[in-house]
Amino acid sequence: MICSVVIVIIIMLLFAPEILPLSFIITLAQIPYASSQPSPFSSTDNQSNSGVPDYYYSSSNSLLTGINHSRGVNDGSSNIKSVILNFDDGFQNQYTYAKPILDKYGFKASFFVVCNYAGKPDRMSWQQITTLHDEGYDVESHSMNHNHMDIMTPEELNYEIGQSKQCLADHGINATIFAYPFDIGWNDPTIVNIVSKYYDLARTGNDPLTFLHCDGYKNHPQTDCRTYTDNGELTFANRYSVRSWGHDTVEIKDGFNDDETYNTFIEEVNSQNSYNNVGDGGAGGYKINAIPLITYHNVDYLTGSYHTDVDLFAQEMKYLHDNGFRVLTMRDLGYDDSTNSLYLVNATM
Ligand SMILES: [Zn+2]
Repeated sequence: MICSVVIVIIIMLLFAPEILPLSFIITLAQIPYASSQPSPFSSTDNQSNSGVPDYYYSSSNSLLTGINHSRGVNDGSSNIKSVILNFDDGFQNQYTYAKPILDKYGFKASFFVVCNYAGKPDRMSWQQITTLHDEGYDVESHSMNHNHMDIMTPEELNYEIGQSKQCLADHGINATIFAYPFDIGWNDPTIVNIVSKYYDLARTGNDPLTFLHCDGYKNHPQTDCRTYTDNGELTFANRYSVRSWGHDTVEIKDGFNDDETYNTFIEEVNSQNSYNNVGDGGAGGYKINAIPLITYHNVDYLTGSYHTDVDLFAQEMKYLHDNGFRVLTMRDLGYDDSTNSLYLVNATM
């Protein structure tokens, strides 16, 4: 029955797409999900989207036409889930194993490279890094030498932070985002002030979600993303401490059980549901308040800390693809000085 309905719809779309109401397509698209497949999400996952499964957004995004992505608000017709993928440290295996999987789905990601690691035996060459850049991947800075910045002199900090931007520029890459090695430095005003001289944003660990208005961190109440409070204190969440979720941290917690980690990944990427589309998008619009940023290190067939199995990574990317997630890069995050908040600048994919 479903097949024949689908065929009818395809014929109608081919010959008279303008007469087919969107709600009709959505209703029909829910049929396979509602009738034959158990939800992979927990009961809380659909609470914020009026019971409409997210699956009717196909990977082709064919129903997303007309969405206004500015300031993370669209036309209200959808519940779009987004994920930002990060790869740190410039490992060779990211190019060998992760890139082909990303390419298969047309996903782009951010690669935070360490300048003086480039060309080392297990790291990407400059040619590979520039190939990533040329193919539309986002290549950003992860310092010159990946050392602990909390024990550096200001001169050393300027070198690690500023020279790594110059180093990437020397290879034709305009880095505007910095990732703190070992997640150290985001809470140190001296370091943050130097980062702010060179970059628009900076990334650190380790929270499940980035809140675009920096207002979702229970232990750190904020109403916007100002870098300093009126008292001159550095805030927890701001444009220089954009929080990401460490995939490796979860693998360690899950005892390197890939089935467990896969389930945790699904929970993680769907956790945004509780915060998005909560009715403040204006004119019935959809509002994105929270996005998961996920950070990987090695993607290969080795075991142990900071190694994600290629098959697990492939499974995770397939999940994002099959469930219509928009996969974005850090470059899709902008900062609005007038509201002191982050927003999605270029979420056209
Ligand atoms: Zn690193």
